[in-house]
Amino acid sequence: MVVLGAGVGGLAAGYFLARTGKYQVTVLEKELVIGGLCASFEHDGFVLDYGAHKLYSVIPGVLDEVTALMGERLLRLPKKNRLFLDGHLVDYPLKLGNLAKVLGPVRFLKLGLGYAIQVGAGLFRRNPPRSYEEYIIHRFGRPTYELVFEPLAEKVWGDPASLHPEMARTRLPASGGMDLILRLLGLRKETADTNAEYFFYPRAGFGDWPHALAEGIRAHGGKVLTSVAVQGLELEDGKLASVLTQYQGETKRFDCDYLISSLPLAMLGRMVFGDKDPEFDRAIEGLQFRHLLLVYISVKRPLVLEDQWIFFPQRNVVFSRLFEQKQMNPELGPANRTVITADQGRYLRAQNTFFLDDHVVIVEAGSLAEVKRRRLAFDLVLVNILAKTIVELCDEGLAETINPGGQIVCAGLIESQEDEVREALERAGLEVIERFQDKDWVGLACRRALPAHRSSGTTWPARNRNVMRPLFRS
Ligand SMILES: Cc1cc2nc3c(=O)[nH]c(=O)nc-3n(C[C@H](O)[C@H](O)[C@H](O)COP(=O)(O)OP(=O)(O)OC[C@H]3O[C@@H](n4cnc5c(N)ncnc54)[C@H](O)[C@@H]3O)c2cc1C
Repeated sequence: MVVLGAGVGGLAAGYFLARTGKYQVTVLEKELVIGGLCASFEHDGFVLDYGAHKLYSVIPGVLDEVTALMGERLLRLPKKNRLFLDGHLVDYPLKLGNLAKVLGPVRFLKLGLGYAIQVGAGLFRRNPPRSYEEYIIHRFGRPTYELVFEPLAEKVWGDPASLHPEMARTRLPASGGMDLILRLLGLRKETADTNAEYFFYPRAGFGDWPHALAEGIRAHGGKVLTSVAVQGLELEDGKLASVLTQYQGETKRFDCDYLISSLPLAMLGRMVFGDKDPEFDRAIEGLQFRHLLLVYISVKRPLVLEDQWIFFPQRNVVFSRLFEQKQMNPELGPANRTVITADQGRYLRAQNTFFLDDHVVIVEAGSLAEVKRRRLAFDLVLVNILAKTIVELCDEGLAETINPGGQIVCAGLIESQEDEVREALERAGLEVIERFQDKDWVGLACRRALPAHRSSGTTWPARNRNVMRPLFRS
């Protein structure tokens, strides 16, 4: 049994299968470390997670399994999180009393009216909600939806009108109108189903959970191998025979009877269907990836927040949540300093996303003007267009799209046009560092100079890349 990927998904599958005693389980992970999105990493004396993670489930048996596996390694923490609205911190789940204080009487009345309209309309409503949007509007009314839920859902999951109502139901389970009013007024307590008051967290950082699963696999005779990048599947007589991988620059084969994959679906699909299957291309057309940017802010204070995390639904705030790692366990960092993590997500279409080694390559239609407007800059820019257009783009600011110290490769030039392009590149501040030729075709590789105060060494781009890489996941 081969399991692809050692995130919690792959490891949990491997653990439960190994435990049956029926399978010889081997988990293959391309990174040096296991855990995927649930890993933790060490930086500057801190143990840090990839954003706020908590262990909780309303699915019967799940928490029993996790607590049995991890025992004393788990902390049981009271949940502390709020919303930041109009400059105020508001309890989450929402309480009417707090909203009234924050919004003032007129806006608060509007929310109440919106809610009353929905209660009235509910008496005549026959059809169940068809989307996240409808579910929330039916429960809270449109003004509350537009104030809190719509912008927050947009930031975290995407367009609420196209999200399945189940997304809302599992987070805000349906209950009678009176029950909701009592809970909003704070007169009825939340239950474990509506909003549990506690959760579990591994005392050594969230990444201890995948480690406990890996230990469980090994204890049952299985293996968890890292730095093994899965690249393809081999079939014999139409049946899966082995998994092809790269390990330390060499191809390595793992024979298997059964395969479980936790890799991104488009990646697995490519391995199964290749890149010439129109049906597969059509099937993944609508699939999207969520791109996540995490920014870690180090602060010279013992603690900054009173909550474990705070949601920021408002559109004028670019991130969706702030999280303080030491609120989970103060021992995860030095006593006199803390780290706050801000997360920001965005959706990318799978069809336009490719994986090249450990880099994610995103294809987007656009123009130089659009790249400049969004102030995007890259370590490597590849240009394969007409010489005349390259000259025009150089004059329009092509060099600004390259990070200082980064490179641009202009290929597919006709030999007779080389000088013209070379001059334009140099005029734009790009130094030609390599020329290559194949018959009549010429390519020029150029570098954008580092700013004067940074040009003495290579530390800036190298350090910048090292810091960003573990923080960027898609
Ligand atoms: C900010 C944030 C907060 C979250 N909070 C919570 C929470 O509170 N509670 C909760 O339950 N969930 C939470 N989640 C969701 C949870 O993190 C994910 O659902 C979970 O980590 C997914 O696990 P996975 O194993 O399916 O995928 P991943 O963690 O993505 O694991 C996939 C693994 O496959 C590996 N891989 C990829 N390509 C290859 C290859 N070619 N060869 C070999 N290996 C490969 C990757 O390196 C990775 O290790 C949160 C997610 C985020 C981003």
